[in-house]
Amino acid sequence: MRRNRSAKILATLGPGTSTEEMITALFEAGADVFRLNFSHGSHDDHKRRFEAIRRVEKKFKRPIGILLDLQGPKLRVGEFKDGKIKLELGKKFTLDLSQELGSQDRVPLPHPEIFKSLEEGTELLLDDGKIRLKVIRCGEDFAETEVMTGGDLSNHKGVNVPSALLELSSLTEKDIEDLRLGLVLGVDWVALSFVQRPGDVAEARKIIAGRAGVMAKLEKPAAMDHLDEIVNLSDAIMVARGDLGVEVPPEEVPSLQKRIVFACRSAGKPVVVATQMLESMIHAPTPTRAEASDVATAIYDGADAVMLSAETAVGDFPIEAVTMMDRIIQKVERDPHYRKMMNAYRYDPESTASDAITAAARQVAQTISASVIVTFSSTGSTTLRCARERPSVPLLSLTPRADTARRMTMAWGVHSVHTEDLKTFRDMVVKATRVAKTEGFGDVGDPLVITAGVPFGTPGATNILRIAWVD
Ligand code: PGA
Ligand code: MN
Repeated sequence: MRRNRSAKILATLGPGTSTEEMITALFEAGADVFRLNFSHGSHDDHKRRFEAIRRVEKKFKRPIGILLDLQGPKLRVGEFKDGKIKLELGKKFTLDLSQELGSQDRVPLPHPEIFKSLEEGTELLLDDGKIRLKVIRCGEDFAETEVMTGGDLSNHKGVNVPSALLELSSLTEKDIEDLRLGLVLGVDWVALSFVQRPGDVAEARKIIAGRAGVMAKLEKPAAMDHLDEIVNLSDAIMVARGDLGVEVPPEEVPSLQKRIVFACRSAGKPVVVATQMLESMIHAPTPTRAEASDVATAIYDGADAVMLSAETAVGDFPIEAVTMMDRIIQKVERDPHYRKMMNAYRYDPESTASDAITAAARQVAQTISASVIVTFSSTGSTTLRCARERPSVPLLSLTPRADTARRMTMAWGVHSVHTEDLKTFRDMVVKATRVAKTEGFGDVGDPLVITAGVPFGTPGATNILRIAWVD
């Protein structure tokens, strides 16, 4: 089973999409990676979804990626006596550390760290930016504010503080517990929410210790000041436009998205564009044309993947949403203008053996119209360097490691297959041509280009470029 496109689709699972039947249908419609969103649901819910995905994987004999998305330090107000209040323009409203239920004048904000970062004039955004408050006075355990934009405020609504660098680690106690579960289950990727500084990624890397790929979600303006460092420390990046779009004005989102996507493409790290991509499909069977165009833009920019959140987690049309994304991606990738753009934004190889080989592999493959480029890679690093080239020829990644095969499902253009390790040079050619044929990447007589490293079984030693013919 092969996809007829290079960019990948991430689908978030939720209450409406947790059965094996639904996950099967989403996979068949085009979902390459499933996201378990730990901002919602119990450990039991996520464990059940995890196990159902692995059963689907077995059924189709294709690796499927699983991304554990940690909630991170999402700030939320506490509870009100009556569940909710109405905030009026110009009135005073206090946030504090008191345990007492909220009223018309105040509400608990149970995050001691946040008060240290506030000062007179700081803006607080509540409920996805619908309500705006400005700090007029503050101390260790309270902030008195003036209502700049009013509205209804109910229990547990989110609080964003765009201008402040909060003294919070991006891993909370809940995250550590959630991460423990994910690593025991064996998730392929872990997404860190509200990354603010490179140190946040470094801290998570230390705990995860290579057991999963680390994806930093960029949704705080502070992270943009260290973009390159964060990209370098991460294995992948998510443009998390939901919270990012609350923390910065709407007109800034498109250029930030482009900056992030191109920084990742330059570094050769998979990049996912996320949130509100087909938002109206939560309740409608077709998207708005502006939404279709938004998905297309991410693909024209060369993003590795696009993501569905509520559309598949709680929406009324989850399968239709994945199908629609699949169709938009295929259409864009068949547009000659798309190929021109991939060629125009190609990043020069770095001065390593692996980049020299992969850049050459792309050129050779295009010159002889090879049907596929086959990479033998145990960690997937050479495969990612090859994906960075954005070749017009499909990419077949063969790896002796099941975890690598699954992790590669996130990367642009990669069809990954788990095989045994190579023993001899002949073995390499035989395996590459056989798998290319069985996976639908070549017929008898078709040329293919192979990259590998000798001695076999040594990670990071790509030094071979070979042309072979399917027989
Ligand atoms: P979330 O992250 O859905 O976990 O909030 C994505 C985003 O903020 O866009
Ligand atoms: Mn978010």
